[in-house]
Amino acid sequence: MPQFAEIALPVPLRQNFSYRIPDTIAPMPTQGVRVEVPFGQQKMIGLVTNISDTCDLPPQKIRNITRVLDDESLLSEPLYKLTEWAARYYFCSHGMMLSQAIPVALRKGASAQPETIRYYALTEKGEQSDSNSLGRAHAQKKIVELLKGSEVTVEEAQALELSVSALKALRERDWIDIYERPVTTDISWRDALKMGEAPHKLNKQQAVAVAALNHQQGFHCSLLEGVTGSGKTEVYLSLIETVLKAGKQALVLVPEIGLTPQTINRFKHRFQVTIAVLHSGLTDKQRLDAWRQARSGEAAIIIGTRSALFTPMAWPGVIILDEEHDSSFKQQEGVGYHARDLAVMRGHLEDIPVVLGSATPSLESLHNAIAGRYHHLQLSERAGSAVKARQGVIDIRNQPLRGGVSQALFNEMRIHLQAGNQVLLFLNRRGFAPALLCHECGYLHECDRCDAFFTLHQSLGEIRCHHCGNQYAIPRQCHNCGSTMLQGQGIGTEQLEGILSKEFPEYPVVRIDRDTTSRKGSLEQQLNAIHRGSFRILVGTQMLAKGHHFPDVTLVALLDVDGALFSADFRAPERFGQLYTQVAGRAGRASKPGTVLLQTHQSDNPLLQDLLQRGYGEFARSQLEERRMALLPPVWHMVLIRAEAHQAEDAENFLRAFAEQLGQHKELELIGPMPAPLDRKAGFHRRHLLVQAADRRLIQQLFEHALPIVEQLPLARRCRWSIDRDPQDLL
Ligand code: ADP
Ligand code: ZN
Ligand code: ZN
Repeated sequence: MPQFAEIALPVPLRQNFSYRIPDTIAPMPTQGVRVEVPFGQQKMIGLVTNISDTCDLPPQKIRNITRVLDDESLLSEPLYKLTEWAARYYFCSHGMMLSQAIPVALRKGASAQPETIRYYALTEKGEQSDSNSLGRAHAQKKIVELLKGSEVTVEEAQALELSVSALKALRERDWIDIYERPVTTDISWRDALKMGEAPHKLNKQQAVAVAALNHQQGFHCSLLEGVTGSGKTEVYLSLIETVLKAGKQALVLVPEIGLTPQTINRFKHRFQVTIAVLHSGLTDKQRLDAWRQARSGEAAIIIGTRSALFTPMAWPGVIILDEEHDSSFKQQEGVGYHARDLAVMRGHLEDIPVVLGSATPSLESLHNAIAGRYHHLQLSERAGSAVKARQGVIDIRNQPLRGGVSQALFNEMRIHLQAGNQVLLFLNRRGFAPALLCHECGYLHECDRCDAFFTLHQSLGEIRCHHCGNQYAIPRQCHNCGSTMLQGQGIGTEQLEGILSKEFPEYPVVRIDRDTTSRKGSLEQQLNAIHRGSFRILVGTQMLAKGHHFPDVTLVALLDVDGALFSADFRAPERFGQLYTQVAGRAGRASKPGTVLLQTHQSDNPLLQDLLQRGYGEFARSQLEERRMALLPPVWHMVLIRAEAHQAEDAENFLRAFAEQLGQHKELELIGPMPAPLDRKAGFHRRHLLVQAADRRLIQQLFEHALPIVEQLPLARRCRWSIDRDPQDLL
C-alpha cells in the first residue's frame, strides 16, 4: 500500500505539503524526522508532521521524498508539540515555526548525532605545576585555575573571552593542550555533581523563595519579583543546584544584552559542569554543537538568548527567564513569537517548573501573578550591604543647559567625582544631535525615504536615518534655502560625551551606545575598562541600563525623560518605569550609597510622581488598573496587522478587506486601518489594523476563519503584510 507523508517546509505559505514515500526509501520516515523533498525547482529539507495511507492530491501531482535524514524524531514530543502550538498561535506555517526552533546547520542537513568536542584541559605537567609560579602572568594563572576545576571547551573559552595569547603561552609551556574526544556524552554530573565556589548564605527572603521553588513538582510558573541587587541570581543558582542534584537540566534564558562573560562565569564558578551557551553570535557549527550537548544531556545547564528556548534537553528540569520584562524576548522580525510566553507553554508541555524573574516585571506577568495563575515570590530588599539609592528630580524649566546638562547636575557630578566615584549619565539618543536644523529658515532635514529626521553624526561626517539606514555626508547648505548656517538640534550621546570631556578634562569619559559597540567584543572591552576604573564618567543609551554591575557608580542621572513620558504607545509608561528603575538600580550597588537624579520639564507629571513616590511595584499595579479600564493588554488581547506598499491605498484596501473578513462581533474591537506612527519608512507607506478582544479563543477562531480567505485575495499580493500577535510595540 502506498504511503504518504505530510511535510512542514520553511515557506511562508500557511500549510503543509504532501509527498509520497517510495518503497525503496530507508529508514521509514516517522513524525518529527527530517526529509529532503523536491519543491519547485529546488530541493528542500522539511520535517514530517504526519504519515497516512491516503492523499487528496491527484497521483500525477504527487512527488517523492528523496532522502530521510534521521532515524528518530529530531525533537522530543513536548518540544514538537510546542512548535505546533506556536505556529497556530502566531498564525504562521508549522515549517516557519520549526525553522525558528531548529539550528541552521540541521536545516541544511547536518547530522543530529554527537560528533567530537574540542576542549582545553591541563596536561600532566600542568596538573603537577603550581600556578603561583606563573608570577604576574595573571591571564595564564586565571586559566590554569579555571582548568583545575574542569575542562573548558573551545567554544566556552571564546564565550568566556579567555586571553588567546595566554592560552597559546600555556600550550607552549606544555601546561595545557587542546584535546578532542567523540562526544561519548559524559553525563557523570547526574550522579556526582561537582560544586565550585560556596554560595552566599541566603537571606531570609531568598531562603523563603528557594524553599517555595524547591518544593514544586511538575509544571508551575513563578514570578520572582525582586528589586535590583536583591539576589535573584542567587535564588536561581540555589534552585539549579536542586535540579542538577536530581539529575535534571536547567535552561536559563537571558536578554540579548545580558549574556556577558560575567553572567556565564557566575554559573561556571558555582557548578563544575558543561554549560551550553547559545546566542546569535555563534557560527552554525558552534550552535549545533551546543544544541547536541543539550540534547544528549552532556550540558547540565543551557544559557541562551531568545531562540535558545527551543533547545532540546534529555532530562528537562526547569526553565528560568531572567529580566523577563526585557523586550528582546519578543522577536520583531519574521515570526513574531514571545520567548516568555512560549517558555511558559513549554514548561506546561514538559511538565516542569518555569521561573520568571525581574526587578520590574512586565504587566503581563504581574497580571498573571495577581490573578493567582503564577506563584508570586518577592524580594524587597537588596542583598548584602547595599542600601537603596536616594532619588531626586531636577526641574529644568527655564534653566540654562549645556549639552542638555543643568548646572545643578554639573555640581552634583563634581561632588561624586571628587569623592573618587564614577558617574553614569543616561541619554536615550545616540549620535551628535537628533536633527539638523537650518538657523536661517528653520528647516529640519528629513529622510527622503521616511517621515523622520536625520540624526547628525558629527564624528562620522554624516547624517543618518535611524529608521532605514539611509546616510549622506553632512550637507554644506540647507536643502530648503541654501543657507550655510546649519547646526545640530538637540543633544545626542556623541555631543554629550564631547561637552563632558571639556567640562571635566581630568576625568576620562566613555560612551556606550550602538555606534561605539558595533564591533564584536568592543562592549565587553569597554565594560572591563569601566570595572578597572579607567573611566570616571559613563555616558550611554539604554544599553547601559541593563544588568551590569558597576560597584563604583554612585550617581546616575537621566537627562531627558520628557520624550519617554509623552510617547503615543500605550506601553510607554510601563517601559519608562522599567527603564528608570533599572537605571536607578545601577547606583550604589556595593557598599557605597547611590543617588539617582532625573532632569525633566514635567516635574509634576502625575505618572512620574507616582513612580518616584511609590516605586515600580505600586506604579505597575496602578498602570495595570488603567489598562483594565482602557480594555488594553494584558487584560484584553491584541493583534496588530501591518501592511505596507508603495501606494498607500493598496495597504489600506487590503486591511479593510481583512477587517471585513474578521466580521462584526460585540466582543471584538477593530481600530483602523490607520497610518502607522512612522507612516512612511524606506519608501513604503505603512498602515495598521488593530484587533482587540477580551477572549484569546475568539481571536484564534476569527483569524483561522479569515486567513485562508484573505490570503487568496488579489489585494494580498499588492502589499507586504504581517500579523503580530501580542505586539510589543505599535511602530
Ligand atoms: P539580582 O540578580 O537580583 O540583581 P544578584 O544575585 O546579582 O542580584 O545579587 C546582587 C549582589 O548581592 C551580588 O554581588 C551578589 O553576590 C550579592 N548577594 C546575593 N545574595 C547574597 C546574600 N545572601 N548574601 C550576601 N550577598 C549576596
Ligand atoms: Zn529613512
Ligand atoms: Zn534653510
